[in-house]
Amino acid sequence: MVSRIDIGNAGYVELLETFGSDLTVVNAARVSFNKESTEFSDRDAGLIRYLAKHNHNSPFFHPQLRFRIKMPIFVTREWFRHTVGFARNEVSRRYVDFKPEVWIPTEFRERDPNLKQGSKNEIIAQNEAIHEIYVKTMQAALYSYDSLLEANVAPEMARAVLPQSMYTEFIETGSLAAYARLCGLRLDPHAQKEIQEFAQAIHDLLSPAFPVSWPALMQANA
Ligand SMILES: Cc1cc2nc3c(=O)[nH]c(=O)nc-3n(C[C@H](O)[C@H](O)[C@H](O)COP(=O)(O)OP(=O)(O)OC[C@H]3O[C@@H](n4cnc5c(N)ncnc54)[C@H](O)[C@@H]3O)c2cc1C
Repeated sequence: MVSRIDIGNAGYVELLETFGSDLTVVNAARVSFNKESTEFSDRDAGLIRYLAKHNHNSPFFHPQLRFRIKMPIFVTREWFRHTVGFARNEVSRRYVDFKPEVWIPTEFRERDPNLKQGSKNEIIAQNEAIHEIYVKTMQAALYSYDSLLEANVAPEMARAVLPQSMYTEFIETGSLAAYARLCGLRLDPHAQKEIQEFAQAIHDLLSPAFPVSWPALMQANA
């Protein structure tokens, strides 16, 4: 089974550990009647679909997933808004001062006059010139960071000159229900394209691991 998906030049999502299966969900629900399934049956699949459809969410809290994720900070800010059901630990630039990496898009989307839409699919006409401005800005920021460190400024202060496009890495553990909620919101076309791509990676990694629960939850969270 694939455990890591690279998101172009924007980072990656790696599934480190999976606790539980569709059977875990079923048995969490069946304990209400002091019952247990030993092998997954069609009846169990029906129960999972019923639970998801009627928002009986707690059985989906039991399976847990642990990921290592690398993404630009501006995407992380949106990602970390999803709080309930997640635990996270992140690289700290108070303690590390290795060379920062920054996300450099090759194509810049045009602004959409409909504010809520964020961007159009069209690439702006002056793409090359904008790319050049962007790269120069990144180089200047990275140069400033190096200069501050060379002058013996503490990394915890020097980091303030680094841009939002800088990558960060974190370990995240969450319940199946929490990931379904996140993906429901972030696979939506109203979400920014870059976060949609990370949500898609989570979706692609969890679909084969939870073949009944995941589609049922995604339908309920659509
Ligand atoms: C397309 C899009 C655009 C967005 N735009 C903005 C924006 O412009 N500005 C901005 O600040 N945020 C924005 N957000 C973030 C959004 O407001 C949520 O913070 C984010 O989607 C996480 O939602 P969540 O329900 O998964 O939150 P979680 O914190 O994971 O909460 C999960 C659920 O727990 C319950 N819950 C959590 N906390 C409370 C509470 N205090 N009281 C009662 N119930 C609670 C709610 O049912 C909640 O849905 C945007 C999100 C999306 C998807």
